Formats: sequence, structure tokens, C-alpha cells
Amino acid sequence: MVGMVVGLGGGFGVEMMVDLGGSFGDKNGGNGGGFGSWSSVLESQSENDLQPKMLSLWQDTIIGVGQMFERVEDFRASLQKYAIAHHMAYTFVKNEPSRVTTKCKAAECKWRIHACQVQNTDVLRIKIFNNSHSCDPRLHQYMHPQASKKLIASLVEDKLKDTPRYRAREIINDIIGTNPGSHAVWETFENDRFKSLFILFYAQIVGFKNGCRPLLLIDGMFGKEHYKIVIGEVEGLTIISDRHKGLLDTVSEVFPNFYHAICVHHLIANLMNSLSGKVRKETKKIIKNPVYASANSLRVEEFDKNMNKIKKISLDAFVWLKDSEPYRWAEIYARGCRFGHLTTNVA
Ligand SMILES: [Zn+2]
Repeated sequence: MVGMVVGLGGGFGVEMMVDLGGSFGDKNGGNGGGFGSWSSVLESQSENDLQPKMLSLWQDTIIGVGQMFERVEDFRASLQKYAIAHHMAYTFVKNEPSRVTTKCKAAECKWRIHACQVQNTDVLRIKIFNNSHSCDPRLHQYMHPQASKKLIASLVEDKLKDTPRYRAREIINDIIGTNPGSHAVWETFENDRFKSLFILFYAQIVGFKNGCRPLLLIDGMFGKEHYKIVIGEVEGLTIISDRHKGLLDTVSEVFPNFYHAICVHHLIANLMNSLSGKVRKETKKIIKNPVYASANSLRVEEFDKNMNKIKKISLDAFVWLKDSEPYRWAEIYARGCRFGHLTTNVA
């Protein structure tokens, strides 16, 4: 599903592109999806559409003492949404099926909520709710630390259940409406069927341009125009990807001076293919560790030692790796900076 991932080096992994190929109904994303081309929604948004509707709906998911929830999971979900709507963070003091106590994350703050099970039922009832913060509210102002991947996934899941024919055009409208400045377009096949959707949120664009190391982790291949639109010129750019020839040609056109590193997972997968029919299954398995160790080696002697281990296990594997441009996958010979990333996995 995820087509492209931008690795931001310092732990700010951002999923940049989502390929939803064929997942939404049997036709293209709505009118305007041209033949074999990318389309975007250019309608202007009214001011009202730009309001964060979801957040305002979540402001009252927690009301007060006596409020009941069918199950403990419902209480936790409501609390999470409430915290996001109020720009606050909390920690669990107790988190059990029969009782949940949370407090504001700020150390001295008195904000607190406690709910426990109604006897002989799964129902949870709020018993204590101190809704005033003694911490500095400016600490919370712009943050949504409680917006977890799990919550976001559940929102998307709910949306798809409610709207199984949610069209690319509607998705893009929703994204641009709630995240002005984002880049979102969809692509169709030549027969006008929906192919893929490219989404880059405004926050990701700003984050990459202003706070990130020049490192792109690419998995898959998409229209080159988006790289240019979204990223622009990047000095000293390193790209880690599989060895996809088309992808490299595409990226080379946009970033002529980038350093291309190969994802070690992909390297090993290709190595395993090349060994098919030449070595036993067990042998293939034991080669993987020294390959990772070679890629990770920070000294030449260490690299040589690991490569010699591979040589003893399989000469074919050793020769294949030597011929596979070690400067693209081995840290010790790298010509750019991968900031410790050996693969395209950031999640
Ligand atoms: Zn507080």
C-alpha cells in the first residue's frame, strides 16, 4: 500500500506517498481523472471547509463525572480524541480493564481523570474528572502527541466502512480541505481506471525542506514531476531504494547529482534469487547475517572479515556481492551519507 517513504534521518519518518491502486471501486476517482495522467482537485475551498471539523467534534467526547462507556476500549478511544481536540498529552497512572486513571503529562499538573467498571458489567463510568490544568497551557498549544498511528488507521477504516466507494477525488478534496498547502493528485490507467494516489501533506513538505537531512528512502516508482514539485533542489541528496532501473532513470532526471544507495533488504532478496538452484535453502539462510554485518561494518578489516565468512559459505554469493557495487550498500564504502539507514524501512 505504501508507495514511497521519506526517511528524515532523525527519527521523523514520514510516509510520503500512498498507492491505493484499485482499492476504491471499479472506476476512476471521479470526473476529471484524465487518461493515463495525473489529476488534482483545483476547486477553491470555502473558509468553512478549512475548519478542523473532526477536532471540534472531539471536544466533547469526555463530558464529566457519571458519563458511561460500553467498554473500556470506548473510554480509551474517547479520551484519546478528547486529548487531541484539547491539544493536551496524558499518561496512564492505571490502565486495566476494570479501571483507568490518567493524568496530564506535565509533571505537576492536577488535570486527572479516573473511570472504573460498573459492577458485573463491562461498562466503565467516570468517577473523578479534574478538568483544570495547572500546567502552562502554551506547552500544549500546537501538539497532538496522542494522535497515534493506530488511531489514524482506525479513522481511515471507519471512513472506508461508511463510504466503501470513497473516490480519489473526494479523498483529495478532504485532504486539501483539512490540510491546505498539501500536494495530492491521482493517476488513472489509459482505460480511465483508477491507478494510484499521491499524497504529500503540507506539514511533510515544510518539515522536509526545513528540518530534515537530505535523505530519501524510496520504495516504488511514481511520476517524476512530483519529486520536482514537492522537493525542489536538494543539495547533497542521498536516495536509498531498490535497484529498480526505471526509478533510477526517473530520479536521475530530477536530481542529477544524487548519491544512490541500495536498500540492504532488496540487495539480499536479489542475492537470494541469484543463488537459486546453486546453494541449499539452509545455506541461503546463514548467508544473510554476514551480509548485514558487511553492510554495517565501519572498518575495512571488519568488512573483509564478514565478506570472508560469506566466501567460506558460498563462493557464488561472495562473487555476486563483490560485483554488486559495494559502495552502494556497504557503509564503509558509501559515497554519500545514509545517516545510519541501511534499508528503506523507517517504520
Ligand atoms: Zn496540564
